[in-house]
Amino acid sequence: MSRSAHPAGPRHADVLTEGHYSAPAADLNILDEKVWSRTVTRDADGALTVGGIGVARLAEEFGTPAYFLDESDFRARCRAWSEAFGPDADVFYAGKAFLSRAVVRWLQEEGLHLDVCSGGELTTALDAGMPAERIAFHGNNKTVAEIERAVEAGVGRIVLDSFQEIVRVAHIARSHGVRQRVQIRVTVGVEAHTHEFIATAHEDQKFGIALADGQAAEAVRRALGLDSLELIGIHSHIGSQIFDMAGFEVSARRVVQLLAEVRDEHGVELPEIDLGGGLGIAYTSDDDPREPHEIAKALSDIVTRECESAGLRTPRISVEPGRAIVGPTAFTLYEVGTIKPLEGLRTYVSVDGGMSDNIRTALYDAEYSVALVSRTSDAEPMLVRVVGKHCESGDIVVKDAFLPADLAPGDLIAVPATGAYCRSMASNYNHALRPPVVAVRDGEARVIVRRETEEDLLRLDVG
Ligand SMILES: *Cc1c(COP(=O)(O)O)cnc(C)c1O
Repeated sequence: MSRSAHPAGPRHADVLTEGHYSAPAADLNILDEKVWSRTVTRDADGALTVGGIGVARLAEEFGTPAYFLDESDFRARCRAWSEAFGPDADVFYAGKAFLSRAVVRWLQEEGLHLDVCSGGELTTALDAGMPAERIAFHGNNKTVAEIERAVEAGVGRIVLDSFQEIVRVAHIARSHGVRQRVQIRVTVGVEAHTHEFIATAHEDQKFGIALADGQAAEAVRRALGLDSLELIGIHSHIGSQIFDMAGFEVSARRVVQLLAEVRDEHGVELPEIDLGGGLGIAYTSDDDPREPHEIAKALSDIVTRECESAGLRTPRISVEPGRAIVGPTAFTLYEVGTIKPLEGLRTYVSVDGGMSDNIRTALYDAEYSVALVSRTSDAEPMLVRVVGKHCESGDIVVKDAFLPADLAPGDLIAVPATGAYCRSMASNYNHALRPPVVAVRDGEARVIVRRETEEDLLRLDVG
């Protein structure tokens, strides 16, 4: 099909020069392995397969929209992280990225630890048998009930986020007759996002206790003075979707400085530091994430060097990747519905999901890629915006991308790298039914989180 055969075709060249999106890939049929999970490939007929199963069969069996999670890729990423950091460090998977009982079991089998930040996440972790001592509990406003449950369960650490919480957790631990292991979350004045970081970020945020003005040092003083708390270290988390290690470098240096101050004042060398998560992944071909072994080496070099110069023993390091483990392992499969070419602008491709299954584009202007996956096509590329079916003009899944101009209703398209913060942030807006998560591995597919049903909606509505 020639470009002009498509209604929106002739003007594409005009639009292309204005946008900030990349030019179309030379061949839209080629799947960039950077943004797709490891077992994804095209079969002889051109349809995408994951774990050896074609998308037509997946769509027929599980419906659309649905998230398909490449289990062997998930496990491989867990192993890569824990091998990269080795026995002197701990890798905590950040459960908020995506948590289910199957995921908790995979984490256990692969030897990872788990971060939770709510009672619901804690319940899921414990129910699936994660040993409590391998769980860290985070959050800026943990309720008393949540803290009690965490203490009763015996979680390995509670990350203290405020002066009030130091007292609250100490009180609850004392009344349960336990000495609770805790870390203090500090804000190091570093803010990191994707391609830039700011070393002098102001402290105007809800998380943590500022290093500035000696506040973190005061928090350490108070925690050390409470015998129902065992202060095991300092925690810092500087941002998300970070590629540049420079932000971690500044953060680690500032945390080690605090450890040195604590040693000087109290004669105590805190044994652990946690550098948080936030490591970036490839959402589009423009993103170049680092491998876990490079990240591990960079972080441990920084910490070792800073500790040597401060005359401290090197503490045990922990990290908390969420997105970097689960993000690349899943894609969302949609069926194409209405296609609306807007003369001189772009073509709106509507899918059977939208902001209810992926809020990140609307929320953060996140960038995604998209591909036609039920077949290949030799048609010209057309500039599209992939939108959902919700009553909201900001309901965009992929802002600017190219799909073949012969795209038609009923085609299947897939958005890769939706494993993190998509199902976990999904909503019922417009009474949408949240899609299932289907784990695919070695030719087998099984639902790990089922699709919501209209009965589920009505069951909550007790009116
Ligand atoms: C969100 C969060 C993480 C995980 O961030 P990712 O970007 O998914 O790696 C880790 N630690 C803390 C404290 C967080 O809030």
